[in-house]
Amino acid sequence: MISKKQIGRMIPYSVIENGRRIINLGPNRCRVCETPVRSFQDTGYGFELLEKAQVVGGLRRFADACPVCHSSSRERLVWFWLSQAGKGFRFADGAAIAHFAPEKGLTRRISGAAPRGYTAYDFEPSRYRHLERVEKADLSSLPMPDESVDLLICNHVLEHVPDVPLALSEIRRVLRSGGVAILQVPIALKLDQPIELPLDSSPEDRIALLGQDDHLRLYTAESYFETLQLAGFRVERYDPFEDQARLATEWRLDPYELLHLCYK
Ligand SMILES: [Zn+2]
Repeated sequence: MISKKQIGRMIPYSVIENGRRIINLGPNRCRVCETPVRSFQDTGYGFELLEKAQVVGGLRRFADACPVCHSSSRERLVWFWLSQAGKGFRFADGAAIAHFAPEKGLTRRISGAAPRGYTAYDFEPSRYRHLERVEKADLSSLPMPDESVDLLICNHVLEHVPDVPLALSEIRRVLRSGGVAILQVPIALKLDQPIELPLDSSPEDRIALLGQDDHLRLYTAESYFETLQLAGFRVERYDPFEDQARLATEWRLDPYELLHLCYK
């Protein structure tokens, strides 16, 4: 018996996406993919811990995600900085961009801005249908040479990896001097101490303590900042509301989410 997912895989992705565009057509606009849409979808996993510990990047948000490219406030924040306020990064011709766990809407905009230098990476490339090519890469041993990347984006990955210091040292190794890495993770505003669970922890414990069954840790704001600094980055926490409050409101960004810009 063929599953619904298998049937979906047989339909060309462009057909699915065009269908979404037609079904969702309306007077609003996605800030990332710029598709005119009728309304936005709710996001978040809904696990109690996420609300209790006020986990930025994991909380439920209503009418948040684009029904076509699935960008939510998390992706809008990245594109906001890159497109509106990207004082620290210019999409110069030939700039080398490495995008891990490539979010659909961001992929289009970033690869469109620097088509020659853009490469998408993931530990499991077969998960992606919106991209023709995703390179296989493991954060514990990156395939790129030293000092070869100008902009590296790796959002909501570090909470999954077994060895964070090793992953960060690899990210720092491949970044060019003056390059920047955008490394977002869920941040618990109402936890006093970060939580780290062992590799053999159960999915039930992870959901109860971290808010997701495949996460290994949950950071507080300070512990994450320190982790990045310890890895040798100069870390800037960009607050879009401090920078451009009116525009950040129009873009419906999450007022609690700061963008972690890690410079080498
Ligand atoms: Zn969109």
